Amino acid sequence: MNIESLIRTNIHALQPYHSARQDFLSGILLDANENSFGSSLTLDGFSLNRYPDPYQRELRAVLAGMNGVAAEHVFVGVGSDEVIDLLVRVFCEPKHDSVVLLEPTYGMYRVAASIQDVHIHSCLLTEHFQIDLDAVKKKVDATTKLIFCCSPNNPTANVLRSEDILALCQWGAMVIVDEAYIDFASSASMGKQILTHPNLVVMRTLSKAWGLAAIRLGYCLADPLVISFMMKVKAPYNINALTSRAALDALGKGDQVRQTINTIVEERTWLLHQLAALPCIKHVFPSDANFMLIRCNDATALYNSLAAKGIIVRNRSTEPLLQNCLRITVGTRQENEQLIRAMKEWCP
Ligand code: PMP
Repeated sequence: MNIESLIRTNIHALQPYHSARQDFLSGILLDANENSFGSSLTLDGFSLNRYPDPYQRELRAVLAGMNGVAAEHVFVGVGSDEVIDLLVRVFCEPKHDSVVLLEPTYGMYRVAASIQDVHIHSCLLTEHFQIDLDAVKKKVDATTKLIFCCSPNNPTANVLRSEDILALCQWGAMVIVDEAYIDFASSASMGKQILTHPNLVVMRTLSKAWGLAAIRLGYCLADPLVISFMMKVKAPYNINALTSRAALDALGKGDQVRQTINTIVEERTWLLHQLAALPCIKHVFPSDANFMLIRCNDATALYNSLAAKGIIVRNRSTEPLLQNCLRITVGTRQENEQLIRAMKEWCP
């Protein structure tokens, strides 16, 4: 498959900005108009006066090693939200091209496409929140550049069948799999599949299982050609030095993260059972994520009642297939107990 032909013409021709730290990371650095006398702030002997590595070589090498691919398969962004935005900007011609969304799903795909004035072809998931291949096929045409798949899907919390995702890869567009919540799932990441499917992009983030939403670090795994075009379009120093440092420190603590994931998964099971036992909850959908979807009699009334008690969940009930549904993040045991208590007061 010729993925180069999917790149926007002007991005193909783009001469990227040549940043100072691209060629030399050390030496007598008089090339970038930095402050040679140091910075007004140093953190743990960590000097902040120099621009960071525009290629994030150290971080990408570590992420590559963790995912069993080479560093040229890795792009790091300011959260996976930056990755989503860049994919749209690299591939989609405004006012002409389209993306396919499998809805209900994460809202930023639609926002990123809309900002670039890219057409959106919306396709509903099946009633079991899986990909309706026949329906998607009808939405894919010559203008379709990206098909966004979220697995586990936000807000439905289920994993999409990987066979279906690989079937989408046959249709000539880039297939983006957002695995923000995959660390909580029983099935494995599709990361390695990028090695055999050049039009597959797998997105990951440190915002969920790694507990680092504040540092804003997401990444994707893809064919080196895709990564090279994303590099061309990104802001020269998109990942700041503090974020890189924090991420590198955290990535060395995999054991701790695995323990937290186990705790969240145990807590998810507890919460699922508690919710299922409440008479006003009609259905608790199974979860492969750190949140769950519930259907109740009156989602807006329950949402308002919880909010009045200072418990904030997400009301998704206006979205297709999600009538009277709320999305609830797994909290600590204490938070979950308070949630259940508040719900029992609402539906004794
Ligand atoms: N993808 C999904 C499915 C998400 O739910 C979120 C955040 N809620 C993101 C991506 C964005 O993650 P990040 O913090 O890495 O930008």
